[in-house]
Amino acid sequence: MTNPLLETREGPFGLAPFDLIQDDHFAPAFSVGLQEHLAEIDAIADNPEPPTFANTIEAMEGAGEVLDNVLSVFFTVSGADSNDARQALQRDFSPRLAAHSSAIYANAALFARIEDLWDRRDSLGLSEEEARVLFLTRRGFVRAGAALTGAEAERMKEVKSRLAVLGTSFTQNLLKDEADWFMPLSEADLEGLPDFVVDSARSAGEALGREGPVVTLSRSLIVPFLQFSPRRDLREKAYRAWTARGANGGDTDNRAIAAETLALREERAKLLGYPDFAAFKLETEMAHTPDRVRDLLMAVWKPARAAAMADQAEMAEMLRADGVNGPFRPWDWRYYAEKRRHALHDLDEAELKPYLQLDKMIEAAFTCSSRLFGLAFAPLDLPLYHPDCRAWEVTRDGRHLAVFIADYFARASKRSGAWCSAMQSQARRPVEKAPIVINVCNFAKPSGGKPALLSYDDARTLFHEFGHALHQMLSDVDFGSVSGTSVARDFVELPSQLYEHWLEVPEVLSEFATHADTGAPMPAALLDKVLAAATFDMGFQTVEYVASALVDLEFHNGPAPADPMARQAEVLEGLGMPDAISMRHATPQFAHVFAGDGYSSGYYSYMWSEVMDADAFAAFEEAGDAFDPATARKLEEFILSRGGSVEAEELYTAFRGRMPGVDALLKGRGLAA
Ligand SMILES: [Zn+2]
Repeated sequence: MTNPLLETREGPFGLAPFDLIQDDHFAPAFSVGLQEHLAEIDAIADNPEPPTFANTIEAMEGAGEVLDNVLSVFFTVSGADSNDARQALQRDFSPRLAAHSSAIYANAALFARIEDLWDRRDSLGLSEEEARVLFLTRRGFVRAGAALTGAEAERMKEVKSRLAVLGTSFTQNLLKDEADWFMPLSEADLEGLPDFVVDSARSAGEALGREGPVVTLSRSLIVPFLQFSPRRDLREKAYRAWTARGANGGDTDNRAIAAETLALREERAKLLGYPDFAAFKLETEMAHTPDRVRDLLMAVWKPARAAAMADQAEMAEMLRADGVNGPFRPWDWRYYAEKRRHALHDLDEAELKPYLQLDKMIEAAFTCSSRLFGLAFAPLDLPLYHPDCRAWEVTRDGRHLAVFIADYFARASKRSGAWCSAMQSQARRPVEKAPIVINVCNFAKPSGGKPALLSYDDARTLFHEFGHALHQMLSDVDFGSVSGTSVARDFVELPSQLYEHWLEVPEVLSEFATHADTGAPMPAALLDKVLAAATFDMGFQTVEYVASALVDLEFHNGPAPADPMARQAEVLEGLGMPDAISMRHATPQFAHVFAGDGYSSGYYSYMWSEVMDADAFAAFEEAGDAFDPATARKLEEFILSRGGSVEAEELYTAFRGRMPGVDALLKGRGLAA
């Protein structure tokens, strides 16, 4: 049987042949990929020649191509278009993958070659990037426990493989709780909801094969429902279901998984000689220590909480004026905030929405990158994994640069949130590779052939994920392990959050925000309101985020809590968390922290990056032009093209001439005193 996942990629741009790939191709291709990678690694480790950079580090960079090909396709479809077969495969692959990487890190002969190179690093005549890749490779081995022996090495293997299993279960439980719940709405329940919410509730109902409209737990439906529904009882019901995800008891409950994960992470850090998991994790980050993270978060917390409490006092008045006695509750916040936004800024999302057409916002994101970096986009007609996916060839001066794929619409088979991943990362050595990058979002799909409309939040998400894509597509380094977004976690959100600023450039909105029915550009007055409203309710947004970031930090700093829910309550109590605001991601739903290691004791990093993005965009403002060519050139040269080939501080300082403080962020959020 031929397996398309194992064939040489002869299609255009090395893209996977999605039209030929069936679910039963994954398991055999995965096994072949693992075996080939191990054989390649063994050949490197057992090479009779003395170690050189080329025969060891560069050879490792080139190893595992088949496995990469299989996994890049598999992770794309299992995240964006899952089904029972793919979920079963994921449960099977995840411990085997953890064991595979442990086996490579435990290869003593390989580690001895790396150590030998490391000891002789100053006499090897390495380029700056080669030296960096050697440093990172060795650090990766040491942190994975390559220096451990005997029982400790065995235990490390068990811990890591168990953590991988727990992460997968956490994600699948969340997905299941999200897919299982819906609330049918009668025609009377639709009263007060703007058309776009009604449309997406109807289309969610259709997707579930039901007659009438429903509210689901998809963020792009439940958030606008909470914003607009005057029915306090329905808001409460929807809100409670939303915040109960992963904590409903039974098979899909994530609370015990969270406790076990935290205990195993602490054990892992201690085996490696770190006092706790946060110390281990932050070693490789720009922030470096838990104290620096806590200082940043607390500097933002106080003004944010004060702003949120002042907003709440005004909204509690509005609640009373509506004849409701009793306290202001979390399911009231978004509804009254929307009313208040309407009153203060006379801006209602429903009036705004017809101007934010998905296709126009895609064009806006593309055009900004053309003006800044000279990129051009041409649609590609290629078989992809779902009919909602679209692809473009990205070129500059007529030369191929990358393939960009976008999968924007929500569906039940897609996990929630939005993300960017590289199906192929840029590299020059040992083999030249051009990036293949995908953006996945969860925007509500319109029914009946209407144009897709976005909320302002959605439009920002589109720009955000496209910023990550640019980081991949403009990458210009030798080695795949340091290309694109392979950077410190607290640096990786800089390009994405920075790119959001271009959505707010007045000339961009006036050109691309045109009315879906009339084609008229967004009126100047509405545009002004959008910009003035940009910092509205920022106290709430900052509080829900910072609370999550601090809980994440405290989970990993010091001994692991036996009862994470109790520890969460304790941290929130200590902060004086407002009663009417909940964490943006409470523990049972906190996929950033528990689906894998990525953002564990690292959720703060969005804000760390925001400190920089506010300051970095100010460089364009100081130049007097949001598309200033010289500043754009520096941004590409020092940040977007460099990946992780240089330390983040060094890159930022080269771009801006100095490091930023917290002031630009507070000003940007409207929280400056
Ligand atoms: Zn991001």
